[in-house]
Amino acid sequence: MDFGIRGRTAIVCAGSKGLGKGCAAALAAEGVRIVLNARDPGPLAETAAALRRDAGVEVIEVAADVGTAAGRAAILAACPDPDILVNNAGGPPPGDFREWGEAEWHAALQNNMVSPTLLIRAVIDGMIRRRFGRIVNITSAAVKAPYPALGLSNGARAGLTGFVAGLSRQVVRHGVTINNLLPGSHDTDRLRAIIAREAAAKKMPFEAALDQARAEEVAGRFGTIEEFGAACAYLCSAKAGFITGQNLLLDGGYYHGTL
Ligand code: NAD
Repeated sequence: MDFGIRGRTAIVCAGSKGLGKGCAAALAAEGVRIVLNARDPGPLAETAAALRRDAGVEVIEVAADVGTAAGRAAILAACPDPDILVNNAGGPPPGDFREWGEAEWHAALQNNMVSPTLLIRAVIDGMIRRRFGRIVNITSAAVKAPYPALGLSNGARAGLTGFVAGLSRQVVRHGVTINNLLPGSHDTDRLRAIIAREAAAKKMPFEAALDQARAEEVAGRFGTIEEFGAACAYLCSAKAGFITGQNLLLDGGYYHGTL
């Protein structure tokens, strides 16, 4: 299927590794020019070079923290008028809610709720004027079924989801869609870091904890960043203009519900 977005431009936030990288690669494979953001310039340059080599598209690197005003300004300076925006940032740390004061809550809300809404605000009027826009927010399966240890994530992402639910209905008549992708367990650095923390707490070898976590998945495996990226590229495609305000769970069936 031709996704009909060749020659479009996408901002992909937090995209040098993991799920963001999967999205950037899938969009690049569709011929989309990529404005690639991540904090650390080394991995960012590596991923950008791989995208240029594999997909032959232009990739502009913006090394910046998307959770800061300066970081978002740098991204928007590189690309004020994207056709596609993929919102992403690192997830908040796990823990017990008694450990979280104002600073922890502000950081989680800043990265996983406020920052994506400010980027949406910055680019959406241009999308409306040009009568085409695709916004995808990487949130979490925790929005559908909260993880007790990830309370900061459960709370902040629910806020973004509520905001998007309303806004998506206001802009769809102008050709602009906004959807959320809800990852379950995908094999990324973040997942491995969480499993390593749990393994240490249980005094278990990391590899054994990884095997156990994999076996506990309904699908018997973790998701891949390529599978995740493909779903993102579809939602960003010209074909997906009638899909908006949706929360697509990518968890290999882990959430046990009819709907
Ligand atoms: P990852 O650690 O593998 O990759 C994170 C990427 O984001 C890196 O490129 C890093 O440089 C970049 N990054 C982090 N914070 C940034 C910031 N403030 N500004 C710019 N770049 C930043 O993580 P991942 O597993 O790909 O997770 C991506 C998002 O999806 C996170 O919010 C995570 O909580 C969420 N999530 C992941 C899973 C999973 O199984 N991997 C499940 C549910 C939710």
